Amino acid sequence: MMDPNALTIALSKGRILKDTLPLLSSAGIELLEDPDETRKLILDTNREDVKIVVVRATDVPTYVQHGAASIGVAGKDVLMEHGAAGLYEPLDLHIAECRLMLAGRPGQQPDPQQRLRIATKFVNITQNYFAQQGRQVDIIKLYGSMELAPLVGLADYIVDLVDTGNTLKANGLEPLELITPISSRLIVNQAAMKMRHRTIQNLVEGLREAVTPATT
Ligand code: AMP
Repeated sequence: MMDPNALTIALSKGRILKDTLPLLSSAGIELLEDPDETRKLILDTNREDVKIVVVRATDVPTYVQHGAASIGVAGKDVLMEHGAAGLYEPLDLHIAECRLMLAGRPGQQPDPQQRLRIATKFVNITQNYFAQQGRQVDIIKLYGSMELAPLVGLADYIVDLVDTGNTLKANGLEPLELITPISSRLIVNQAAMKMRHRTIQNLVEGLREAVTPATT
């Protein structure tokens, strides 16, 4: 069991960890070892009472929801897909920014009368987005390489994260509709926020200052 008094922060490897560490550092929290050099999943920091756990990006909301971590950093895409019930989302960290988009072949304008066949891993977000507009869709769940689906006739469209657009372009696809802008958010377990209000609030404020540097 983790120390119940420790403040545990759930992060995922890759761009979230890389972009969150400098923010934590500005808020006074430094990792004691290089996450790329260790296989440990619980990492110590310069603060005795703060630990970092490294989990899959899509698992971050689950850890925080259940209180296994008090705090986490998760993409808005992951939070929307997960549902994120029972979580506070006090801060947009403005990291890992990108767009969730409907994409397809160039010039292929989605026909509002036609049932769209869409491959995606964002099944819930896609369902909700099209349902709100009263548009009929057939969703094919994939776990990766969505760009392949239209090339091999598995689907006509994909819903995926787009940053530079290079991945779409390299596969002969183009962005067609913006579903929602995405960035990583700080999330907090609601019970932890009540019970450890001062510690968590201090950290949230430290991060807020790191995200929006005071103008001089
Ligand atoms: P790009 O080629 O720069 O448009 O990047 C698109 C690829 O990177 C897609 O495979 C996306 O799933 C992935 N990607 C881009 N931005 C992010 C992000 N902020 N978080 C997770 N994956 C991303």
